[in-house]
Amino acid sequence: MGRPRIVVLGAGLQGTCVALALAHRGHAVTLIESRPFPLSAASLRNEGKIHLGFVYALDQSGATQRKMLEGALCFAPLLDRWCGELPWHEWRSEGFLYAVMPDSIAEVETLHASYTSLSALLSEMAEHELCCPGYLGRELSWLWRAAGEDADSPFDRGLSMKGFFETEEAAIDPRHLAARLEDQLRRHPLIELRCGIMVDGAERRAGGFRLNLQEAGEASTLDADLVANCTWSDRARIDATVGIPADAAPLCYRVKHQIMVEQAPGMRPLVPITMVQGPYGDVVPRRDGQVYISWYPECCTYFGELPPQQSLEDPEVAQSVAERSLTALQEWLPDLAGARIVSSAAGVIVARGSTDIEDPQSALHRREAFGVNSYDGWWTVDTGKLTNAPQLGEITGAQISEAVK
Ligand SMILES: Cc1cc2nc3c(=O)[nH]c(=O)nc-3n(C[C@H](O)[C@H](O)[C@H](O)COP(=O)(O)OP(=O)(O)OC[C@H]3O[C@@H](n4cnc5c(N)ncnc54)[C@H](O)[C@@H]3O)c2cc1C
Repeated sequence: MGRPRIVVLGAGLQGTCVALALAHRGHAVTLIESRPFPLSAASLRNEGKIHLGFVYALDQSGATQRKMLEGALCFAPLLDRWCGELPWHEWRSEGFLYAVMPDSIAEVETLHASYTSLSALLSEMAEHELCCPGYLGRELSWLWRAAGEDADSPFDRGLSMKGFFETEEAAIDPRHLAARLEDQLRRHPLIELRCGIMVDGAERRAGGFRLNLQEAGEASTLDADLVANCTWSDRARIDATVGIPADAAPLCYRVKHQIMVEQAPGMRPLVPITMVQGPYGDVVPRRDGQVYISWYPECCTYFGELPPQQSLEDPEVAQSVAERSLTALQEWLPDLAGARIVSSAAGVIVARGSTDIEDPQSALHRREAFGVNSYDGWWTVDTGKLTNAPQLGEITGAQISEAVK
């Protein structure tokens, strides 16, 4: 093939990583994004946890834990390769405290056994050099340990928490990552970033594709030799326009809010917390003093087989979700008393599962069925988690680069 036109659809973290992986290999790429800015949808509006697999303790096959570990351990090394060394120590949170809730759908012993398997898996991967050595700019050493409830516990003393685990798992601040990557996209001589362009669909043509676009109310087309579809919540719809069959396991879509608050003066600073196992919450203090909070029953506002039709940008809904989530979390974490809501923004989560996470059998507890598929010049990338975007970007970039040879 001569100099092929490679087009990546969707400039979230996934499309950004595919574009960077291709550009790193010397390929020119056009990156199309419907919003005015790249990295402004789910890849900005999230918790930023780079999962090591603790949350997926109910997948007894261990497949999800393996997938999360693989993604997490190459997250920073790949982004460093494409962008130059990034300041992970400035973006990274402290380690998460896993708190086992009084009505957890898994017993402490089950979680302990799962985390033990996780340690074994990590050792096995390290021994066989199946993973990169670093996690967000540092080595993992102890991974997790059971912890008692001490005087510093962030939880209300009257609650009967079942147990605690300290972990080395951390979150990055997605705002910093998005800003740095946007800069990289705009500066890279091989990447043409085109925002404000909606991909309606595509048609297969001899040797390539014709993309049907909408820009400021005007329809246009763009011909491409190779396409990578990284549009997350719109991916299945666009795939269908070129005849790609739906996944065997139907997708489910959820809308979840990213809520940021500031603790009231005089409160003890919170540590990162994940409340397990079931429909509970998380808190993640950022280095600028803001705290990400979520309380699943309140901040997850849509669950369905189709992408949400409601606007994600309704400020009244966002404010009300934030108020209800904060009130619910204050029952558990007294140091959130008097906290001020800074922002609330909705994002979409795409996964597989017909029941929600309070069901121990829900497929949402297993997240191994995502990744990259290709159909004769068309790549479709199901990101799965933020954690896995660089890994899948590298896989897609390598496959497209190979196809171009
Ligand atoms: C509240 C919340 C918390 C989360 N927390 C975590 C977490 O802690 N850890 C974790 O690993 N994952 C987390 N996730 C999941 C994570 O955010 C997503 O898996 C990840 O961001 C998906 O990246 P993406 O690039 O595929 O999607 P996006 O960032 O949504 O990017 C897709 C892009 O495609 C564009 N697009 C869509 N349709 C079209 C079209 N037709 N034409 C042109 N452009 C289009 C969109 O505008 C968007 O910019 C969370 C998600 C949410 C909502």
